Amino acid sequence: MTRHYKLFIPGPVSVDEDVLDAMSQPVMRHYGDEWLEIHNETLDLAKRVFQTQGDLFIVPGPGSAAMDMGLGSLLATGDKVVVGINGFFGERLAAIAQSYGLEVVPFTAELGRPLAPDALREILREKDARAVVVVHHETATTVMNPVKPLAEAAHEAGLPILVDAISSMGGVELPVDAWGVDICVTATNKCLECPPGLALISISPRAWEQVDQVENRHHGWYLNLKTWRQYRANWGAWHPSPVTLPTNNIVGLRVSLRKIVAEGLEARFARFVRISRAVRKGLGNVGFEMFVPDEFASPLTTAVKARPEFPVSEMLRWLAEERGILVGGGLEQLAGKIFRVGHLGKASTREYLMDFLFSVEEFLRLKGMGVPVGASFVGL
Ligand SMILES: *Cc1c(COP(=O)(O)O)cnc(C)c1O
Repeated sequence: MTRHYKLFIPGPVSVDEDVLDAMSQPVMRHYGDEWLEIHNETLDLAKRVFQTQGDLFIVPGPGSAAMDMGLGSLLATGDKVVVGINGFFGERLAAIAQSYGLEVVPFTAELGRPLAPDALREILREKDARAVVVVHHETATTVMNPVKPLAEAAHEAGLPILVDAISSMGGVELPVDAWGVDICVTATNKCLECPPGLALISISPRAWEQVDQVENRHHGWYLNLKTWRQYRANWGAWHPSPVTLPTNNIVGLRVSLRKIVAEGLEARFARFVRISRAVRKGLGNVGFEMFVPDEFASPLTTAVKARPEFPVSEMLRWLAEERGILVGGGLEQLAGKIFRVGHLGKASTREYLMDFLFSVEEFLRLKGMGVPVGASFVGL
């Protein structure tokens, strides 16, 4: 039998039973009145989470598919695009841009530090770029990039900004219209607390204008915003998408979005802040140091430094095998140097949180480190 783990990785996350139940209902058509009602309610709920009145599409695929779609639709081969890079997922954006023949102008910050809006301004003064693209929550380091001032810097230069909010939308403040995020992308399996399978992408009027101007005839059909707009306009009254939709996933997403909206975004964001602080404090109590200073640390995932007493991999293996708890490791340059604890989905429940902290304590005692029982809970 497959073993079921408690997921404390930065995504996918352990999903609530009501979402899974909804997904296990009989398969339905992806067109017709019944479907339209479900589809449109899900879209409306998603727009409330994105805080946008603009267009939004729900696209089968991983988050990267929607980043592909955004970059490939907004830019033509040969265009320059400024890509914020301060970790693995910023590098991913550069790779996607290059795959469309775009010229990447890198805009970097040290690993574990956020991108700086003034540095972006300087680059935009020198380069005739056509768009800016950044990650909101750089999940590889758990740093939050300051999207609001980065968007302001892009707009001052007359450029649209695309944001990879795959690991942040629905977990921290990101009001798409108020901050002027022109293309915003997320996926179901992180803060939206659903299984993987769907990407969501919003488009501002300014972004549509540019999509209509660019000559990118060879950037594909499926991951092309124009294709999705055309089907919504022409077939929207009965068949709102160009392709067969994974209806069960969308039905599950509707359940999750309803819960997010019912909780209230503010209350939800505050809850993740509390939980991440509890994890930081709890691990700090037993001698761990955090990789990112509090001021720009994500409330959604916490990166913790490795300790000299044992290799990180040994602790992660023990937690997985002996306690059924999966924690994320470091990616690439950070492999072996940090581990990453996700706070999403069931990882945010009291039950999971207590189990995680207590299990870490147990491991430390096993390694002969004098950690009193319950030490991690002091002051939580
Ligand atoms: C998880 C993640 C991705 C990758 O998402 P896929 O759904 O696997 O394509 C990209 N960017 C960020 C910031 C992520 O956290």
